[in-house]
Amino acid sequence: MTYITENICTTVQRIRELEAKYNRPAESVRVLAVSKRHSVAKIREAATAGLKEFGENFLQEAEKKITELADHPLTWHFIGPIQSNKTRGIAEHFDWVQSVDRDKIATRLSEQRSREKPPLNICVQVNLSAEQSKSGTSLAEAESLCALVADLPQLELRGLMAIPAFEKDFEKQRQYLNELSAEFARLQEIFPTMDTLSMGMSNDYEAAIAEQSSMVRLGTVIFGPRV
Ligand SMILES: *Cc1c(COP(=O)(O)O)cnc(C)c1O
Repeated sequence: MTYITENICTTVQRIRELEAKYNRPAESVRVLAVSKRHSVAKIREAATAGLKEFGENFLQEAEKKITELADHPLTWHFIGPIQSNKTRGIAEHFDWVQSVDRDKIATRLSEQRSREKPPLNICVQVNLSAEQSKSGTSLAEAESLCALVADLPQLELRGLMAIPAFEKDFEKQRQYLNELSAEFARLQEIFPTMDTLSMGMSNDYEAAIAEQSSMVRLGTVIFGPRV
């Protein structure tokens, strides 16, 4: 067994244990393997070990990988900051975009998504800690961006995504994530296509599962440190 296969076994088993611990239905948490700055060979290993959804942050790097891996039935999620000049490539190559944080980006992605393809699945990125340096709409403005995405023809509103500020303390992690979780539950009542709460990374996925995450985005615990 390679270390990637081992990491995946251990992590998936841990997720199943955490679902039980926090009274979540079995298999209610999906794993998005974050493969940025890791090789195509490593992605193949992870796919062979059973992971089918991969997250990338940089368009150029991702285009190459997606092309090389076209023979694998994988689902690709764009999770990095989006400049307007990158929307065309993202709309062309990806199945999901989790980092939509402003109207202009949503509008462009819908315009540029081919009518021959299924709509792009969208998560609105929320900036929980209101840090200047991180992208994401504020929690207060998330609803209006969700409304726009829900109305655009080539987009399907699927959920919310957040990258909280780094925090070691488990209870503090839960507090942050609980804010997003509560807003997600409220928005789901308004927008019935929302089924994905994307939160939890290598350092806080237990807290995220405790707070009702349905998709954890894991890089380091699966592939090891990025080079
Ligand atoms: C890099 C990245 C991750 C994965 O981070 P790890 O700490 O390595 O698990 C998850 N989400 C986003 C948006 C990222 O950019």
